[in-house]
Amino acid sequence: MTHPPHNVANALTRRLDARDVAALVRAIGVRQSLVQLADHLREDFLRWPAFDKSARAASHSEVGVIELMPVSDGALHAFKYVNGHPSNARHALPTVMAYGALAEVRTGFPLLLADLTLATALRTAATSALAAMSMARKDATTMALIGNGAQAEFQALAFHALLGIRDIRAYDIDRRATDRLARNLAHVPDLRIVASASIAEAVAGADIVSTVTADKTRATILTPEMIAPGMHINAVGGDCPGKTELHADILRHARIVVEYAPQTRIEGEIQQLPPDARVTELWEVLAGNAPGRGAHDEVTVFDSVGFALEDFSALRWLHNVASANGAGEFFALVATPRDPRDLYGWMMRDESQAPNATAGAVKEALT
Ligand code: NAD
Repeated sequence: MTHPPHNVANALTRRLDARDVAALVRAIGVRQSLVQLADHLREDFLRWPAFDKSARAASHSEVGVIELMPVSDGALHAFKYVNGHPSNARHALPTVMAYGALAEVRTGFPLLLADLTLATALRTAATSALAAMSMARKDATTMALIGNGAQAEFQALAFHALLGIRDIRAYDIDRRATDRLARNLAHVPDLRIVASASIAEAVAGADIVSTVTADKTRATILTPEMIAPGMHINAVGGDCPGKTELHADILRHARIVVEYAPQTRIEGEIQQLPPDARVTELWEVLAGNAPGRGAHDEVTVFDSVGFALEDFSALRWLHNVASANGAGEFFALVATPRDPRDLYGWMMRDESQAPNATAGAVKEALT
């Protein structure tokens, strides 16, 4: 596992704004980005015991939630700020927006500050696909995709790239969302998107069902009579207390895999089950300690809520590809006086106007 180089001496932080990240992903290719991210995720999930983990801190309001997600492996520390506001479209803003930072633990110096809105969609989809690779039937080719908003294309492409899913049956209460999804992915070879007239129609005969809806309520997007033996359910949209997508009876009869049980018991579909309900953490499945699927006809559920380790992986990946491609800018995010204890003098002399004779050299070292 490679960590980004340490560049504290130069006192500059790399900044990747939303456009920098988008340009980087376009240059690498979405498919390749998902594959690379899945590799970073797998590497980090397999180092699970090395991480200092905690459930995220959530600040709820009537209309949404704002969350802070920290994690550290002892060498690098990452955090993400992310919101979830299902009715943000009325303000012409996305439901989910995020940014975050990667710092070195040795000094606490921030190495990278980045938009994580796009990276959240990529890492969520890559994590879903990673879980499904161990949980879905090996012969799966068809996926129902319920909820065709901002996350949808990424979910479709991750399952196409990593599991070979070729047929997507898409449904959204807003038909324009499904049409946009079909239009955006029309060029992808060997991937067909077909609009369904209802959730039941989309789900009937599907091998995998992904639910990616946004509504701050206890929804029942999927009910037990829709579920066939052997289905894998990738439940992504239920990720807050009081915000779920599956009827509880589906959960009672399924094998359930979660990211980090203490957080998912608060936020995931399993908030509907008793607090000691049996679940398996994804890292155990990836490490081969526990099966993702017990039998061909078993129903499996990946109860995804999004865990800080996935953002750690995303930031590590972004830092690696930004370094390799010379992407972004370097800037003085934090004050670092030449005499570290003379913060006052630094301010009064306005050293910040001509701070770093070494800035050029730093950029060289990083790229
Ligand atoms: P979005 O608002 O862009 O899209 C949501 C879509 O769901 C919309 O098109 C909406 O019309 C549709 N929808 C709402 N209710 C529906 C219903 N009953 N049936 C069918 N469609 C319905 O949101 P997004 O960014 O795509 O995120 C989707 C969900 O995923 C959100 O709830 C978000 O919080 C969650 N999310 C989870 C993770 C994770 O790690 N688990 C990460 C990112 C987002």
